[in-house]
Amino acid sequence: MANQSSSITENWAKIQERIARAAERCGRRADEITVVAVSKTHPAETIVAAYEAGLRHFGENRVQEWESKQPKVADLDATWHLIGHLQSNKARRAAHLFRRVDSLDDLALAKKLHAAADAEGKCLPVLIEVRLGDEETKSGVAEADLLSLATSIAPFAHLEFAGLMTIPPFFDEPERVRFYFRKLRELCDDLSRKLSRALPVLSMGMSHDFEIAIEEGATEIRVGTALFGPRGFVA
Ligand SMILES: *Cc1c(COP(=O)(O)O)cnc(C)c1O
Repeated sequence: MANQSSSITENWAKIQERIARAAERCGRRADEITVVAVSKTHPAETIVAAYEAGLRHFGENRVQEWESKQPKVADLDATWHLIGHLQSNKARRAAHLFRRVDSLDDLALAKKLHAAADAEGKCLPVLIEVRLGDEETKSGVAEADLLSLATSIAPFAHLEFAGLMTIPPFFDEPERVRFYFRKLRELCDDLSRKLSRALPVLSMGMSHDFEIAIEEGATEIRVGTALFGPRGFVA
Protein backbone atom coordinates (compact mmCIF):
# COMPACT_ATOMS: atom_id res chain seq x y z
CA MET A 1 0.00 0.00 0.00
CA ALA A 2 2.75 2.46 0.95
CA ASN A 3 4.37 1.78 -2.41
CA GLN A 4 1.16 2.26 -4.22
CA SER A 5 0.42 5.61 -2.54
CA SER A 6 3.87 6.90 -3.32
CA SER A 7 3.54 5.94 -6.97
CA ILE A 8 0.13 7.63 -7.17
CA THR A 9 1.66 10.75 -5.62
CA GLU A 10 4.52 10.67 -8.12
CA ASN A 11 2.22 10.03 -11.06
CA TRP A 12 -0.05 12.85 -9.95
CA ALA A 13 2.92 15.24 -9.83
CA LYS A 14 3.87 14.24 -13.39
CA ILE A 15 0.31 14.70 -14.61
CA GLN A 16 0.15 18.15 -13.03
CA GLU A 17 3.38 19.06 -14.79
CA ARG A 18 2.02 17.87 -18.12
CA ILE A 19 -1.15 19.89 -17.56
CA ALA A 20 0.85 22.99 -16.62
CA ARG A 21 3.00 22.76 -19.76
CA ALA A 22 0.02 22.20 -22.05
CA ALA A 23 -1.92 25.06 -20.46
CA GLU A 24 1.06 27.37 -20.80
CA ARG A 25 1.47 26.54 -24.51
CA CYS A 26 -2.04 27.73 -25.23
CA GLY A 27 -2.29 30.58 -22.75
CA ARG A 28 -4.70 28.87 -20.36
CA ARG A 29 -4.52 28.47 -16.62
CA ALA A 30 -3.86 24.97 -15.30
CA ASP A 31 -6.45 25.46 -12.57
CA GLU A 32 -9.20 25.79 -15.20
CA ILE A 33 -8.78 22.09 -15.88
CA THR A 34 -10.44 19.48 -13.69
CA VAL A 35 -8.89 16.05 -13.53
CA VAL A 36 -11.27 13.12 -13.18
CA ALA A 37 -9.31 10.17 -11.81
CA VAL A 38 -10.64 7.08 -13.57
CA SER A 39 -10.66 4.41 -10.90
CA LYS A 40 -12.52 1.64 -12.75
CA THR A 41 -11.11 -1.84 -12.01
CA HIS A 42 -9.10 -0.45 -9.08
CA PRO A 43 -10.10 -1.19 -5.48
CA ALA A 44 -11.53 1.32 -3.00
CA GLU A 45 -8.14 1.51 -1.25
CA THR A 46 -6.64 2.94 -4.42
CA ILE A 47 -9.33 5.63 -4.49
CA VAL A 48 -8.48 6.52 -0.90
CA ALA A 49 -4.78 6.76 -1.80
CA ALA A 50 -5.58 9.07 -4.72
CA TYR A 51 -7.82 11.19 -2.51
CA GLU A 52 -4.99 11.52 -0.03
CA ALA A 53 -2.71 12.56 -2.90
CA GLY A 54 -5.14 15.39 -3.64
CA LEU A 55 -7.58 14.09 -6.30
CA ARG A 56 -11.19 15.19 -5.77
CA HIS A 57 -13.03 13.92 -8.85
CA PHE A 58 -13.38 10.23 -9.67
CA GLY A 59 -14.85 8.44 -12.66
CA GLU A 60 -16.29 4.93 -12.76
CA ASN A 61 -17.79 3.28 -15.80
CA ARG A 62 -20.05 0.64 -14.27
CA VAL A 63 -22.87 1.11 -11.80
CA GLN A 64 -22.47 -2.33 -10.28
CA GLU A 65 -18.74 -2.04 -9.71
CA TRP A 66 -19.21 1.36 -8.12
CA GLU A 67 -21.98 0.05 -5.89
CA SER A 68 -19.56 -2.42 -4.35
CA LYS A 69 -16.76 0.12 -3.76
CA GLN A 70 -18.83 3.16 -2.81
CA PRO A 71 -19.56 2.20 0.83
CA LYS A 72 -15.80 2.13 1.52
CA VAL A 73 -15.25 5.66 0.26
CA ALA A 74 -18.59 7.24 1.18
CA ASP A 75 -16.90 9.53 3.71
CA LEU A 76 -14.61 11.18 1.19
CA ASP A 77 -15.65 14.62 0.07
CA ALA A 78 -15.23 13.93 -3.65
CA THR A 79 -17.33 14.23 -6.79
CA TRP A 80 -18.26 10.87 -8.27
CA HIS A 81 -18.81 10.74 -12.02
CA LEU A 82 -20.37 8.01 -14.08
CA ILE A 83 -18.37 7.97 -17.31
CA GLY A 84 -19.48 4.68 -18.89
CA HIS A 85 -22.49 3.61 -20.89
CA LEU A 86 -25.62 3.46 -18.75
CA GLN A 87 -28.48 1.06 -19.37
CA SER A 88 -31.80 2.66 -18.57
CA ASN A 89 -32.75 -0.09 -16.11
CA LYS A 90 -29.87 1.17 -13.93
CA ALA A 91 -30.83 4.85 -14.15
CA ARG A 92 -32.35 4.94 -10.70
CA ARG A 93 -29.28 3.45 -9.02
CA ALA A 94 -26.99 5.70 -11.04
CA ALA A 95 -28.92 8.82 -10.03
CA HIS A 96 -28.55 7.75 -6.41
CA LEU A 97 -24.88 6.74 -6.47
CA PHE A 98 -23.27 9.36 -8.68
CA ARG A 99 -22.97 13.10 -8.41
CA ARG A 100 -22.82 13.54 -12.15
CA VAL A 101 -23.50 11.47 -15.26
CA ASP A 102 -20.99 12.26 -18.02
CA SER A 103 -22.23 9.72 -20.54
CA LEU A 104 -25.85 10.59 -21.31
CA ASP A 105 -26.64 9.59 -24.89
CA ASP A 106 -30.31 8.80 -25.17
CA LEU A 107 -33.65 10.51 -24.48
CA ALA A 108 -35.33 7.50 -22.86
CA LEU A 109 -32.39 7.30 -20.48
CA ALA A 110 -32.58 11.04 -19.80
CA LYS A 111 -36.25 10.70 -18.85
CA LYS A 112 -35.47 7.91 -16.42
CA LEU A 113 -32.58 9.81 -14.87
CA HIS A 114 -34.78 12.86 -14.57
CA ALA A 115 -37.52 10.92 -12.80
CA ALA A 116 -34.97 9.31 -10.49
CA ALA A 117 -33.33 12.65 -9.65
CA ASP A 118 -36.78 14.10 -9.00
CA ALA A 119 -37.60 11.23 -6.63
CA GLU A 120 -34.31 11.86 -4.80
CA GLY A 121 -35.09 15.56 -4.62
CA LYS A 122 -31.89 16.45 -6.36
CA CYS A 123 -30.63 18.04 -9.52
CA LEU A 124 -28.24 15.82 -11.40
CA PRO A 125 -25.66 17.47 -13.63
CA VAL A 126 -25.20 15.61 -16.92
CA LEU A 127 -22.97 15.76 -19.96
CA ILE A 128 -24.07 14.47 -23.33
CA GLU A 129 -21.60 11.98 -24.76
CA VAL A 130 -21.06 12.52 -28.47
CA ARG A 131 -19.84 9.76 -30.76
CA LEU A 132 -17.36 11.23 -33.20
CA GLY A 133 -16.03 9.10 -36.01
CA ASP A 134 -18.27 6.29 -37.13
CA GLU A 135 -17.53 3.44 -34.82
CA GLU A 136 -21.00 1.96 -34.49
CA THR A 137 -20.03 -0.12 -31.47
CA LYS A 138 -19.23 2.93 -29.37
CA SER A 139 -21.63 4.66 -27.07
CA GLY A 140 -22.58 8.29 -27.49
CA VAL A 141 -25.14 10.16 -29.53
CA ALA A 142 -24.40 10.67 -33.23
CA GLU A 143 -23.51 14.22 -34.16
CA ALA A 144 -26.67 14.46 -36.27
CA ASP A 145 -28.86 13.70 -33.23
CA LEU A 146 -27.09 15.95 -30.73
CA LEU A 147 -29.19 19.07 -31.16
CA SER A 148 -32.43 17.18 -30.83
CA LEU A 149 -31.33 15.36 -27.66
CA ALA A 150 -29.94 18.57 -26.12
CA THR A 151 -33.12 20.50 -26.93
CA SER A 152 -35.23 17.78 -25.34
CA ILE A 153 -33.31 17.58 -22.09
CA ALA A 154 -32.58 21.30 -21.64
CA PRO A 155 -35.95 21.98 -19.91
CA PHE A 156 -35.70 19.00 -17.50
CA ALA A 157 -35.70 20.67 -14.08
CA HIS A 158 -33.90 17.83 -12.31
CA LEU A 159 -31.12 17.47 -14.86
CA GLU A 160 -28.56 20.19 -15.29
CA PHE A 161 -27.20 19.95 -18.80
CA ALA A 162 -23.61 21.17 -18.37
CA GLY A 163 -21.71 20.27 -21.53
CA LEU A 164 -20.30 17.57 -23.78
CA MET A 165 -18.06 14.55 -23.46
CA THR A 166 -16.39 12.35 -26.05
CA ILE A 167 -14.13 9.34 -26.39
CA PRO A 168 -12.50 9.77 -29.79
CA PRO A 169 -11.21 6.90 -31.92
CA PHE A 170 -7.87 5.58 -30.67
CA PHE A 171 -4.68 6.49 -32.53
CA ASP A 172 -1.14 5.52 -31.58
CA GLU A 173 -0.13 8.96 -32.65
CA PRO A 174 -2.05 11.36 -30.35
CA GLU A 175 -1.76 14.29 -32.77
CA ARG A 176 -4.29 12.62 -35.07
CA VAL A 177 -6.94 12.99 -32.41
CA ARG A 178 -6.79 16.78 -32.43
CA PHE A 179 -9.43 16.94 -35.16
CA TYR A 180 -11.99 15.22 -32.89
CA PHE A 181 -11.27 17.40 -29.90
CA ARG A 182 -11.62 20.52 -31.99
CA LYS A 183 -14.84 19.15 -33.41
CA LEU A 184 -16.33 18.59 -29.94
CA ARG A 185 -15.44 22.12 -28.91
CA GLU A 186 -17.08 23.52 -32.04
CA LEU A 187 -20.20 21.43 -31.42
CA CYS A 188 -20.34 22.70 -27.84
CA ASP A 189 -19.95 26.36 -28.86
CA ASP A 190 -22.56 25.94 -31.55
CA LEU A 191 -25.00 24.23 -29.19
CA SER A 192 -24.48 26.88 -26.56
CA ARG A 193 -25.47 29.56 -29.11
CA LYS A 194 -28.48 27.61 -30.34
CA LEU A 195 -29.79 26.92 -26.84
CA SER A 196 -28.80 30.38 -25.56
CA ARG A 197 -27.21 28.94 -22.46
CA ALA A 198 -23.73 28.40 -21.12
CA LEU A 199 -22.30 24.90 -21.51
CA PRO A 200 -19.25 25.21 -19.29
CA VAL A 201 -17.96 21.62 -19.37
CA LEU A 202 -15.98 20.01 -22.16
CA SER A 203 -14.79 16.58 -21.03
CA MET A 204 -12.18 15.17 -23.38
CA GLY A 205 -8.66 13.77 -23.28
CA MET A 206 -7.32 10.67 -21.54
CA SER A 207 -3.87 9.51 -20.35
CA HIS A 208 -2.12 9.50 -23.71
CA ASP A 209 -3.66 12.54 -25.35
CA PHE A 210 -4.86 15.01 -22.72
CA GLU A 211 -2.34 17.70 -23.66
CA ILE A 212 -3.95 17.98 -27.07
CA ALA A 213 -7.41 18.07 -25.51
CA ILE A 214 -6.28 20.93 -23.25
CA GLU A 215 -4.93 22.82 -26.26
CA GLU A 216 -8.33 22.35 -27.89
CA GLY A 217 -10.27 23.66 -24.91
CA ALA A 218 -10.96 20.72 -22.56
CA THR A 219 -12.15 21.88 -19.15
CA GLU A 220 -12.04 18.37 -17.84
CA ILE A 221 -9.75 15.44 -18.61
CA ARG A 222 -10.26 11.81 -17.58
CA VAL A 223 -7.09 10.08 -16.50
CA GLY A 224 -6.77 6.42 -15.53
CA THR A 225 -3.57 4.67 -16.57
CA ALA A 226 -1.24 7.65 -16.13
CA LEU A 227 -2.36 7.94 -12.52
CA PHE A 228 -2.98 4.36 -11.42
CA GLY A 229 -0.90 2.29 -13.84
CA PRO A 230 -2.32 -0.47 -16.04
CA ARG A 231 -5.78 -1.81 -15.30
CA GLY A 232 -6.47 -5.43 -14.40
CA PHE A 233 -8.55 -7.75 -16.52
CA VAL A 234 -11.96 -6.60 -15.37
CA ALA A 235 -13.40 -4.99 -18.49
C1 LIG B 1 -11.16 4.14 -18.97
C2 LIG B 1 -11.62 5.48 -19.37
C3 LIG B 1 -10.77 6.60 -19.32
C4 LIG B 1 -9.32 6.55 -18.86
O1 LIG B 1 -8.48 6.06 -19.84
P1 LIG B 1 -6.90 6.05 -19.63
O2 LIG B 1 -6.38 5.88 -21.02
O3 LIG B 1 -6.57 4.92 -18.73
O4 LIG B 1 -6.50 7.36 -19.05
C5 LIG B 1 -11.30 7.83 -19.67
N1 LIG B 1 -12.59 7.96 -20.07
C6 LIG B 1 -13.43 6.92 -20.13
C7 LIG B 1 -14.82 7.14 -20.56
C8 LIG B 1 -12.97 5.64 -19.79
O5 LIG B 1 -13.83 4.61 -19.87
